[in-house]
Amino acid sequence: MKSLTINQYSTIHALVSGVFDGMFKISEISHGGSFGIGCSHALAGEMIALDDTYFEIQGAGNIRQLTDHEQLPFAQLTHFNPDDQFPVSHISKQDIYSKLSAQTNIDNIFVAIKIEGLFENVWFRRTNHQEKPYKPFIEAIAEQSEETLHDISGVMIGFWTPEHFQGISVAGIHLHFIDDARKNGGHVFGFQLKNGLLSYEMKQDVKIHLPNKNEYLNTDIKVSDLDDIIKRSEG
Ligand SMILES: [Zn+2]
Repeated sequence: MKSLTINQYSTIHALVSGVFDGMFKISEISHGGSFGIGCSHALAGEMIALDDTYFEIQGAGNIRQLTDHEQLPFAQLTHFNPDDQFPVSHISKQDIYSKLSAQTNIDNIFVAIKIEGLFENVWFRRTNHQEKPYKPFIEAIAEQSEETLHDISGVMIGFWTPEHFQGISVAGIHLHFIDDARKNGGHVFGFQLKNGLLSYEMKQDVKIHLPNKNEYLNTDIKVSDLDDIIKRSEG
């Protein structure tokens, strides 16, 4: 089934404003797609969804499958049926924009992206579980675990978001990685791909599902402060 829709649950603006509590059950967001990325309850880890499985990559590195009743504060999901795919070699995160732009102008449209292959290196982070009362996002993120893996096979999943949607999602390329052994991964800061396959699907619909819980409803989202925080933490 071809779907042009990205289902987005909460917003990056809400997340960086401190809405870390789970807001949407897996059983609920699974209707929105089984391909995508997100963030765990209380920033306990990074979420990556593929092959109908929602993985939580915890701060310390453990990977487990999320169950139906568990809740996430943020997710971006879709049904992925690529428009096209092509082999790529010796590219970095910075090259994805030009590779996709060579296909079509993506400046004003969302794109779902999958990159499978052998990576020379992948540099990523995982957020760590936060206790209440929650610290500000920028302090919570200072406790993240960073790691670089070398000569690793795996898959990256995520989205290209146009600049003018910064804050709804993360503008630019936002990817999460999981290795083939399903033993390691996280939110991707950078990588060098040796060789692999890049698949993509243009997405022209975005459906934003907003939480209805008080933690969200009562949060003061100061947009003017947030762009810099998103760039520093999610780039
Ligand atoms: Zn991420």
